Amino acid sequence: MIRIKNLHKYYGDFEVLKGIDMEVNGGQVVCMIGSSGSGKSTLLRCINFLERKNKGEIWIDGQLVSKAKEINEIRQKVGMVFQRFNLFPHMTTIENVMEGPITVLGANKLDARRIALGLLDKVGLLDKADEYPAMLSGGQQQRVAIARTLAMNPKVVLFDEPTSALDPELVGEVLTVMRDLAKEGMTMIIVTHEMGFAREVSDHVIFLNEGIIAEQGSPEEIFENPKHERLKAFLGQII
Ligand code: ATP
Ligand code: MG
Repeated sequence: MIRIKNLHKYYGDFEVLKGIDMEVNGGQVVCMIGSSGSGKSTLLRCINFLERKNKGEIWIDGQLVSKAKEINEIRQKVGMVFQRFNLFPHMTTIENVMEGPITVLGANKLDARRIALGLLDKVGLLDKADEYPAMLSGGQQQRVAIARTLAMNPKVVLFDEPTSALDPELVGEVLTVMRDLAKEGMTMIIVTHEMGFAREVSDHVIFLNEGIIAEQGSPEEIFENPKHERLKAFLGQII
């Protein structure tokens, strides 16, 4: 589904990503962990073309992505959920979810509404369809943001620390929605500091350190038998 070959990314002279190779197959859940500044967000943003890579290849759904035209197509295939939900404040919950299908995919209002209702039901927020984001808790807003991303019918969803801006008591409801998505076979790349969750849902875990994949493997290998000193230190800090 996603294949990355020798990806390099610089900010000025600073090399943030120093040759990343990775592959995510359809239906796989890959969790990415690593300390602050290791390049996790940059890598996700490169996959979604919110940042332009300097070198390397990004293949999505069998297609090598390079031209601007392809990038718009790819943005529809690769959804992203951010730490901050950024819902449109002047639109109700359901309008937020309908917006993308109507303006980007050209769906008619009736279809968009039907799809949005289904997705709000899926994230447990059908009863909030006509509320404005300001009336919702952070956890509810993040669930709307997930529904909004799913409304574009993506093939892959990238999550960049989707729960780290939430109060602890609201984390669980968002993880539950993500866990359900994983069970349904959605292909996902998740940057998270929720190690228990990563261990439970992921098929594969990647430890990023200073712009390289320092270690990767099954959740058991990574969490029970870490080899890299930096990974051991990282896990020691966080658990
Ligand atoms: P965190 O866990 O704190 O979110 P991260 O692993 O997501 O960290 P990135 O946000 O990818 O890390 O940042 C990697 C490095 O690139 C950091 O040193 C950061 O300061 C730098 N960086 C990120 N974005 C930019 C930018 N737009 N311009 C310049 N430097 C940047
Ligand atoms: Mg980040």
